[in-house]
Amino acid sequence: MYASRDVILNDKPTNRWLMPVIAALLAAAIFIIDTFSSLDMAIAVLYVVVVLLSANYSDRRGLLAIAGLCVGLTILSFLVMHAGNYDLSAVMRGLVSIAAITVTTLLCLENQTATQSLRGQADLLDLTHDAIFVRDIADTVLYWSDGAERLYGWPREEAVGRPAASLLKTVFPAPLADIRGELFRTGRWEGELVHTRKDGSKVTVMSRWSLQRDEKGRPLAAMETNSDITERKQAENALNQTRAELAHVTRVTTMGELTASIAHEVNQPLAAVVTNGEACLRWLGRAEPDIGEARASVERMIANGRRASDVIARLRALARRDEPLQAPVDVNEVIDEVLPLIERERATHGVALDVAPGERLPVVLGDRVQLQQVVLNLALNAVQAMAAVPDGNRRLQIATRIDGQEDRGCVLIEVRDTGPGVDAESLPKLFNAFYSTKKDGMGMGLSISRSIIEAHGGRIAAAPGEDGGMLFTVALPNPGKDASGDSLPEERRP
Ligand code: ADP
Repeated sequence: MYASRDVILNDKPTNRWLMPVIAALLAAAIFIIDTFSSLDMAIAVLYVVVVLLSANYSDRRGLLAIAGLCVGLTILSFLVMHAGNYDLSAVMRGLVSIAAITVTTLLCLENQTATQSLRGQADLLDLTHDAIFVRDIADTVLYWSDGAERLYGWPREEAVGRPAASLLKTVFPAPLADIRGELFRTGRWEGELVHTRKDGSKVTVMSRWSLQRDEKGRPLAAMETNSDITERKQAENALNQTRAELAHVTRVTTMGELTASIAHEVNQPLAAVVTNGEACLRWLGRAEPDIGEARASVERMIANGRRASDVIARLRALARRDEPLQAPVDVNEVIDEVLPLIERERATHGVALDVAPGERLPVVLGDRVQLQQVVLNLALNAVQAMAAVPDGNRRLQIATRIDGQEDRGCVLIEVRDTGPGVDAESLPKLFNAFYSTKKDGMGMGLSISRSIIEAHGGRIAAAPGEDGGMLFTVALPNPGKDASGDSLPEERRP
């Protein structure tokens, strides 16, 4: 790591001219002392410092030439100092110096080769369009790629050595401690971040972090690869906005279609209220009023009045364009609430209904009205599709169950019909916006249903049913809680 770190940091061209000057002065000083002083020491060994300094700025050939010069100067000094008088200790000193210069040169050459290969690898990182940087565990930037310069506008010299998060004013999607925890635990992290460029503009990036550890497994540095997804995010937001508006439009349209069935629904309890009111009067008008029967009639009147007001409340909820809520929802209740809304359509088409609510289903977290809308879309589509098959053979099945293990699997809603089904070619198009085979269809129902379910972190799928017809499956994530809400935290209970 430190070798590559040196490569990375030594990129600056500063001191390029200073080093050769110092090396030349040093070599001259060593030569003068070695040649003209009478010190009985291997002064020439100091030429290794000249070689080490030169390794920083010269290439292989240059370094070999400088090393050769140092050896030459050592021999020259020896010849000048000891002309004709070659005593053994002087020769040994000379040889030691030459050996030291040679070994140092060889080591420097080896180091240069390794450095060049690392530099080559670091240069490869500059080829990618992504912004790549390396930071140590204190978050200080060690390496800053060309891509990072382009994306953030910070030149390498200004970025290296500064804390990454404060340089880029990073906005994290979760507490930093959690993100770092995951990085240290698994060695990687991936997520969306918002960064601020040098010019103050914001950029949303898809960020991938990889952790580098030392030989003992201790975290050393993290490499961060960031790709700019700002435009994609903006397009996604615009699409979601449009979908939300369209969802509202279809909800209102659906509401229009359903007004007749709602009116029917409200009419029923109202008629029951009147009938029970009349009965109550009759019980009270007897010579000996039957208080028990009169009370039972009044109780039925109250129950029916409540039912009528529930229907109205549902109608109002459908018409409002509320922000999606994140509340615990029991999917069986959602189905119970939708059934009266399709009652008229179902009865008109002579469709038999078979509801199989799963037992002890966990609650899901979501928006009750939006989930109602999805079930409503699926059930209405099924009923309408079955208009094409002979009477007596029309059955709508709605089942809920838990998929897989009880405390972890998804909560499934399955809507089956015995209609004509969909041919293999059209199947992949069902969830596309504006795909419709109906004369007056908008083709938005399934597309909106899909965005609603995906916004809930779930999946929706269509497949041919086992006995013909279609099977639509909605899978919603299970927060692992019981439908009673007992194990939910206080603030999330309904
Ligand atoms: P719309 O109901 O306005 O056509 P949807 O997005 O709800 O829009 O449905 C798109 C199309 O998918 C329908 O026109 C129909 O062709 C097909 N479809 C949906 N549900 C079923 C089903 N249960 N059986 C057969 N075809 C279906």
